[in-house]
Amino acid sequence: MNNQIRGDGARGLDLPSAAAAFLKRELGSLIDGKVVDREAMVDVFDPASGEVIARVSTASPKTVEAAVQSAHKAFEDGRWRMLRPADRERILLRFADLVEKNGDELAALETLNQGKSVRIARMLDVGATVEFMRYNAGLATKMSGETFDVSIPLPPGAKYTAYTRREPVGVVAGITPWNFPMMIALWKAIPALAAGCSIIVKPSPVTPLTTLRVAELALEAGVPPGVFNVLMGDAEAGSALASHPLVRKVSITGSTRAGKAVAHAAIENLAHFTLELGGKNPAIFLQDADYPSNLHMILMSAFLNQGQVCAAASRFYVHRSIHDGFVDAVTSAIGKMRYGSGFDPEAQMTPLVSSAHRDNVARLVDMARDEGAIVTTGGRVPDGPGYFYPCTVITNANNAMQHVRAEIFGPVLSVIPFDTDDEAISLANESSYGLAASLWTNDLRKAMNLVPRIQAGTVWVNSHNVLDPHMPFGGYKQSGMGREFGARALEAYTDLKSVCIAH
Ligand code: NAD
Repeated sequence: MNNQIRGDGARGLDLPSAAAAFLKRELGSLIDGKVVDREAMVDVFDPASGEVIARVSTASPKTVEAAVQSAHKAFEDGRWRMLRPADRERILLRFADLVEKNGDELAALETLNQGKSVRIARMLDVGATVEFMRYNAGLATKMSGETFDVSIPLPPGAKYTAYTRREPVGVVAGITPWNFPMMIALWKAIPALAAGCSIIVKPSPVTPLTTLRVAELALEAGVPPGVFNVLMGDAEAGSALASHPLVRKVSITGSTRAGKAVAHAAIENLAHFTLELGGKNPAIFLQDADYPSNLHMILMSAFLNQGQVCAAASRFYVHRSIHDGFVDAVTSAIGKMRYGSGFDPEAQMTPLVSSAHRDNVARLVDMARDEGAIVTTGGRVPDGPGYFYPCTVITNANNAMQHVRAEIFGPVLSVIPFDTDDEAISLANESSYGLAASLWTNDLRKAMNLVPRIQAGTVWVNSHNVLDPHMPFGGYKQSGMGREFGARALEAYTDLKSVCIAH
């Protein structure tokens, strides 16, 4: 398989000129519409070659303070929240148009820095994100409260009417991971902005580029300076941001460990929080599952973005009667996959995001071998440049093994047989996580009976990894608290005020 791996990164490729020009600039936090570029510098890498592609200035405590003060001032003076909802909507729609128009540049930057296929970057990181932006921009004009008559005993002649208002919560901190950096930044920024909040997004230091670029496009669309700031930095900067007393809402997408730390910090200030955290997602294949026809989708459920998807399926519970055929089909399809940089049009699998992450994936697979599991394909770090790791299938596994319990967040799936539907459900639910799951069957009666028994925030039937702006998304158990997406997404960025009028 090694000779199929090509780690030539973006060398020799013509990046869109705008992306090349962006990389040559001084890069850093964006505060009040200006880039802060004279602080400690951090290297940013191309995962396909391991080469440094940019250096980004990372926020000092003084810069964290400046970012929050700037967002707070922008909120207090009403330059954004006091606009008519229709004006906020119009500006956010213009913002979506600009992301679409600059899609080639943004997709190229995402691929260069994150390692994903540029096809995926164009389709999901840009295409699906633009749809999400337009949906949420439209919600700016649909926020409303309720009016009601009160029931308290009233003195003669007195009358009261009460109503509720949804008001923007204030300064929001959005803390994001490295797997879909721009997309997840906008999953937080657009609802926050539609609600009238100011937001500071802190991207992962591994993939900071597109968040800065897209925040600049927000300025170009007409979002006033200070309303959408970007803070560069690691967990320390994230922690300083999450614990700042002027931050009224923290929304983090990341590991369960980071989510808990952020929740503790927010609680200290009684700030609101939303946690979108890790997953270890089951896919259940019942006896009648049509895996040959759905093979491509099944592979993508585990290997989209090299398995670096929070909702990726990684525990495959397969009915014993189809187990061996299933393992053969998946293993043989993987053998034909082509590996290369995200810019290689023929590559189906591209590198993992960093060498540290790749080493962690490899460590968990080695641990599986030590525990007695069998690796039917993959499972070895290839020679050559770049942070590649092959698609890996593990059998002879069980729920007690560490690689079945821990989130690997890489291209690794374990196949475990079961005999009865009850057994499948209890194996699937035997996890501290509960983000997503899928059930594969054409038996409608069984699907309708089993879906309510699966402990996960999202359950797909005969599909996986399908996210829609109108479909709420979030986790059960250690996978998070709160929901993103859906018609009520903006409520998470508001406080509810009751008003009672005597008349
Ligand atoms: P991570 O938890 O290491 O980091 C996520 C972000 O949190 C980064 O910006 C990081 O700098 C920051 N951070 C880390 N510790 C912090 C702290 N104590 N206080 C404040 N900020 C802190 O995660 P990652 O490695 O960047 O991303 C992978 C993880 O993200 C996986 O666990 C994956 O499941 C999860 N994820 C979840 C979803 C979802 O919607 N549920 C989506 C994508 C990724």
